[in-house]
Amino acid sequence: MIQILDKSFVPYLSKETLQERIQSLGAEISADYAGKPLCVLAVLNGAFMFCSDLVKEITIPMELQFIKIASYAGTRSTGEVSELLGLSTSLKGKEILIVEDIVDTGLSMQYLLASMAKEAAASIRICSLLVKPEALQHPVDIHYTGFEIPKKFVVGYGLDYNGFGRNIGEIYQLKEDEHTL
Ligand code: IMP
Repeated sequence: MIQILDKSFVPYLSKETLQERIQSLGAEISADYAGKPLCVLAVLNGAFMFCSDLVKEITIPMELQFIKIASYAGTRSTGEVSELLGLSTSLKGKEILIVEDIVDTGLSMQYLLASMAKEAAASIRICSLLVKPEALQHPVDIHYTGFEIPKKFVVGYGLDYNGFGRNIGEIYQLKEDEHTL
């Protein structure tokens, strides 16, 4: 068990489990995109560790870009305004693979897909390390899923709890009796 700020977390997905799954995702992606202009878009901050390991398992030529969705709460009556940051080169005609850490309600991913619609990419697919199917409220088609997990809060391997825990090399789950999030 580990402590992050005021909460306790228990081991959930080990380094070995993560690496084994990432190896097979990398092999699948390499086969699917062979001979195509693959451009991986890593969504910061959460996907930094997953994407770093995943691209090492991709054996075909590829481009890598980092993007970030900035959310500003309370600046409009609707509650939240989002902005896509970091797209430096055109995505026109490219096969885009969005790499995310986790899809929870699907809101962020839906926003991202909508804001990329004008880019005229040849195709856009999503690869998410974790998906919480029970939490999904905004339907998104996730082509490559690392692990489907229950609707419980997790940290580590890029994922944070109030800014902490991203550096942990494996994934921990919030301890059962602390699930008030
Ligand atoms: P969504 O827009 O609800 O799908 O949420 C996506 C974002 O919420 C992710 O990119 C994470 O930053 C954050 N998130 C959702 N669930 C968790 C979790 O269990 N641990 C840490 N961050 C999470």
